[in-house]
Amino acid sequence: MSAACALAEAGFRVQLVERRGYLGGRASSYLHPGVNEVIDNCQHVLFGCCTNLIGFYRRIGVADRIHWTHEMTMIEPGGRCSALGSFHLGPFTLPAPLHGAPSFLCAKSLTFADKISLGRAMRAMMKPDPLIDTHESLAAWLRRHKQTEGAVNRFWRLVIASALNAELDSIAVPYAAKVIRELFLNSAEAGSMGMSTVPLSELYAGVTPFLVKRGCSVLLNTPVEGAAWNEETSQWLICTRTVELLSDYVILALPFEATQKLLPHLPAEEGAERLARQIERHEHWPICSVHLWFDREITSLEHAVLLDREIHWMYNQSKLQGRGGNYLELVVSATRSFAALPREAAIQQALRELAEFFPRVKEAKLEKVALVKEVNATFGVAPGIDSARPTALSPWPNLFLAGDWVQTGWPSTMESAARSGHLAAEALGMEAEEPLKCYERDLKPQGLMRFFN
Ligand SMILES: Cc1cc2nc3c(=O)[nH]c(=O)nc-3n(C[C@H](O)[C@H](O)[C@H](O)COP(=O)(O)OP(=O)(O)OC[C@H]3O[C@@H](n4cnc5c(N)ncnc54)[C@H](O)[C@@H]3O)c2cc1C
Repeated sequence: MSAACALAEAGFRVQLVERRGYLGGRASSYLHPGVNEVIDNCQHVLFGCCTNLIGFYRRIGVADRIHWTHEMTMIEPGGRCSALGSFHLGPFTLPAPLHGAPSFLCAKSLTFADKISLGRAMRAMMKPDPLIDTHESLAAWLRRHKQTEGAVNRFWRLVIASALNAELDSIAVPYAAKVIRELFLNSAEAGSMGMSTVPLSELYAGVTPFLVKRGCSVLLNTPVEGAAWNEETSQWLICTRTVELLSDYVILALPFEATQKLLPHLPAEEGAERLARQIERHEHWPICSVHLWFDREITSLEHAVLLDREIHWMYNQSKLQGRGGNYLELVVSATRSFAALPREAAIQQALRELAEFFPRVKEAKLEKVALVKEVNATFGVAPGIDSARPTALSPWPNLFLAGDWVQTGWPSTMESAARSGHLAAEALGMEAEEPLKCYERDLKPQGLMRFFN
């Protein structure tokens, strides 16, 4: 979608072809028949540093539907809260990276020793280090930097591993360092957290009119099954289950496993085997979400990080999306054991744990519940993964690759997807000799962080 809209704006006549009956892919919402409610397939958060995603939202006119916050509440079982976030005293703030220091130093959920060890680790990750070992796992790095058990469990495992959706020994250090710099150090703006105030698919409702208005088209329920290159006409023939399409250029913006399925149906080309081997090195991690409707308010918080339990994040959708009823969404990431539980056991565990943070759950009546297991939610950023992420340039003529898994430097996120789309659109523009600029640069580090970059 990001590539299509940028190219359409630059005057290309784009045909956007989607297998499903709706746009949005892994970041979409739908009417769940079990609860008769429109739910997101999972809460999706973004951050101020997601410049390409925000640029895409701006392009299609929905940037104002994102609710931004600078605060993150951490809750311990028993209900004690610590708020992490940037410091403000009227108009006064502290320069980055100190903007978050006061709340971090006051956080009751971390001991003094945890804070010292975290401070040391953040100091080590402050500078983008070209010599950083991309083959070292975060778990090994944390051991080497003598992180306390509290820091590992209540920060690295919970905040960083769940943001990257993998266990600590399956995360490459540069990705963790990137998250630390962007979310906690570079600037308050980069680390501010955004959540959609409307169901995810409503965010993209403007994509089709945006494209149609510019002479482009959107074909839904149209799975691509193969493509053939015509050397004489320099055109691609795209074979879908329903129609055949001709095109001068193609951007394949598929998840890695869908790209892999398509490879045997693309022309034989030097380099295709290497791409196949790169794809084989990718693996998926699951994310589960439990959607609960209660007969009364459980908490007035909009969202919270839940410590020491399997459920990690609570989003109060009644507040965030202004929905009727008392609708909470719980997210469990970076764990394969929860995803393997049978439905009833998973729901009971989520409810039991939620009651430890919010005692009102015990008196409340649960009116309805939905469990969504996304087994192939995100790709892992294991040590060494960068060499398995291809660039936008494919082995085929006039065909470009996009999707969150291609080489963007970002983990599996909407930002990586939007970035890859913009990179592919720019590569296509170059090839077509109609260069366009849509790739949004990173936010500049602020305050003292300017000297560390
Ligand atoms: C449960 C869950 C929680 C997540 N949480 C977050 C979060 O909080 N923040 C965040 O930034 N990211 C999050 N992500 C990751 C984010 O959703 C993805 O990184 C992003 O949506 C990837 O976009 P994409 O366009 O690369 O791929 P996709 O969204 O997978 O889009 C690919 C599209 O290609 C279509 N397609 C596949 N095969 C074909 C074919 N043969 N022909 C035509 N079309 C085809 C698919 O139907 C799909 O629409 C989460 C993902 C999940 C699943």
